[in-house]
Amino acid sequence: MPEPSPADPVQFVKGIGPGRAAALERLGIRSAGALLYHLPRAYLDRGAVRPVRSVRAGELVMLQGTVESVVVPRRGMLTAVLEDASGRIELVWFHAPPFLGKRIFPGAALLVTGTVQIRRRPQIPHPEVESLDESSDPAAILPCYPLTEGLTNRVLRAALPPAVARYAPLLKDTLEEVLRTRHGLLPLDEALRAVHAPRTLAEAEAGRRRLAYEECLALQRVMAKRRQGVHREEAVALPVDDALHARILQRLPFRPTAAQARAFEEVRADLAQAHPMNRMLQGDVGSGKTAVAAYAMLAAVAHQGQAALLAPTEILAEQHGRTLGAWLQGSRVRMALLTGGLPAKERRRMLSRLEDGNLDLIVGTHALIDGSVRFRKLALAVVDEQHKFGVLQREALAAKGPRPHLLIMTATPIPRTLMLSVFGDLDVSTLDELPPGRRAVETRIVPEEDRASAYAFVRREIESGRQAFFVAPLIDPSDRVAAKAATLLHKEVEAAFPDCRVLFLHGRLPRAGKEQVMEDFRRGRAPILVSTQVIEVGVDVPNASVMAIESAERYGLAQLHQLRGRIGRGKHASTCLLFSHAAEAEDLERLRILASTQDGFRISEEDLRLRGPGEFLGTRQHGLPELRIADLAKDLDLLIKARQDAQSFPHRPSGSPAPPSPRRRPADAGAPRPPGGS
Ligand code: ADP
Ligand code: MG
Repeated sequence: MPEPSPADPVQFVKGIGPGRAAALERLGIRSAGALLYHLPRAYLDRGAVRPVRSVRAGELVMLQGTVESVVVPRRGMLTAVLEDASGRIELVWFHAPPFLGKRIFPGAALLVTGTVQIRRRPQIPHPEVESLDESSDPAAILPCYPLTEGLTNRVLRAALPPAVARYAPLLKDTLEEVLRTRHGLLPLDEALRAVHAPRTLAEAEAGRRRLAYEECLALQRVMAKRRQGVHREEAVALPVDDALHARILQRLPFRPTAAQARAFEEVRADLAQAHPMNRMLQGDVGSGKTAVAAYAMLAAVAHQGQAALLAPTEILAEQHGRTLGAWLQGSRVRMALLTGGLPAKERRRMLSRLEDGNLDLIVGTHALIDGSVRFRKLALAVVDEQHKFGVLQREALAAKGPRPHLLIMTATPIPRTLMLSVFGDLDVSTLDELPPGRRAVETRIVPEEDRASAYAFVRREIESGRQAFFVAPLIDPSDRVAAKAATLLHKEVEAAFPDCRVLFLHGRLPRAGKEQVMEDFRRGRAPILVSTQVIEVGVDVPNASVMAIESAERYGLAQLHQLRGRIGRGKHASTCLLFSHAAEAEDLERLRILASTQDGFRISEEDLRLRGPGEFLGTRQHGLPELRIADLAKDLDLLIKARQDAQSFPHRPSGSPAPPSPRRRPADAGAPRPPGGS
């Protein structure tokens, strides 16, 4: 028999074979080494199994017992009685997947997890079940793997411990010994043993942490390299002396908050360098980011450079145009607004002025990124609501001419783990304070039966001169999604407020139509605006005091927080109404979090925990090694350590090969990463 090697095809691993190898291939696993990096997504701790008799309503429990009887009350539904030495409990599936019948039969030994309800009898609706072969190894901790058709937990639980024993010692541990011991991490082979065959949950976690740390370190090394790269690039310095500083501040119609003043100074220090600024400005909705953008742009213009402000929607671009126009009234700054709908002739004129240097400041939408847009001397670019853009788009703007200074802004506070991982190449300024006079927004969850009284409340607000937003997630009704469409909501609101003018804004309106609707609402010509989510970002109507959100459970927390940020901007007490049919406990939990706090950072952390990082990344194509093992909701400490270590240990020691990998990643994209696909 030949010597084993981690590069061996996975089918030769004992207990796998050709059929299961094909299933594993679908998960991107081709080699024995890659199989070792197929990590459990969770563990069942049989030590935590409870006697059936002891369970209480609402508890999440694990039970072990035998199926006593099975009933199919109607097609698709399945109920079973599970019995242990202490008692019985009913398991119920309202929509039973077809394969379930094979596992649930009288006499089957099961491990069951789920939340207990007490109806007439105690029951567990839609539990997770594991078949327990009585003869199988009674390990206390059962790993649960990501699976695919033709692959079961039982197969992997049997195959992995021997595979680890055979192949793990052959893997080269590329993590520097000194880092490993500094953080008390396990050697590679022990870590793999710990994740696949743990004796305790703590041991499994210790194994996972070692592998997750390694992943974080690879990421941070790429990041450190990028940061160095940017710091080596050259840009035109835009020093702001005290006179210029004062002149810019005079343009603002208010006194900056302390947080804004701090951000000004941070931007000012960046711009004084002959290297490009690469800064993210994060601040909750309404924290006054526009003023910071204006500060940076005016510094550029004062140095005869051009500045561009990129906004994700026309409504927002127009609003920025209006704001800046007002602040710059009477100045010599030549400003223009470039959006997609501009007539061709006007557009051509504008572009040639831009190219000739006869425009100083341009505000625009995606239209700004177009290849036909050329600057004479773009010194600074601002990207508002960065998550609406990809990095490539950002870079397309930055590539217009010599490297400009870059300020990117986000109204969704980025949880620290993400800041340290995917956004780690940016410097950060934070506006953690709202301008004075902001009123807290009261947030109420409105069940359907309270709709009438909620409408009565809205009516009172309107009668005292306020305005109200109504927002629905979709334009048209859909069978697939159980959410109220905006068209329906529009009709309903018109019927409920027959004496009021009700405006309707949605993405399909022509550009001029949208502008007109927003203008009418801003000017108070109508008390109610029904809208799809197009108003999510940046709309400023201080007289609006109600934000009513339909089918609120359909939104992410960060989105809801953004929508709520549209109100509470004036001097009036404001209320956010969350209409919801939320049946799922988790949906309700999300809404309750929102109702309980207005702290954008707290909300972001919760969103990350509940929905994963997707919401924050948007269309960001970050080109960084992805994190598969590290968990952005809980591995903050590892990311921080890895970031520090990446500074002091920038490279892997030479001569140590990367682990075997069927699909090797680029050398600097993190060699010490698990092999195998994603
Ligand atoms: P953001 O873009 O961060 O959501 P904006 O820049 O649109 O916030 O500012 C929100 C509102 O607060 C605007 O009406 C703006 O004029 C006002 N504002 C900003 N900074 C201050 C300040 N320091 N004092 C008073 N009002 C301010
Ligand atoms: Mg804004």
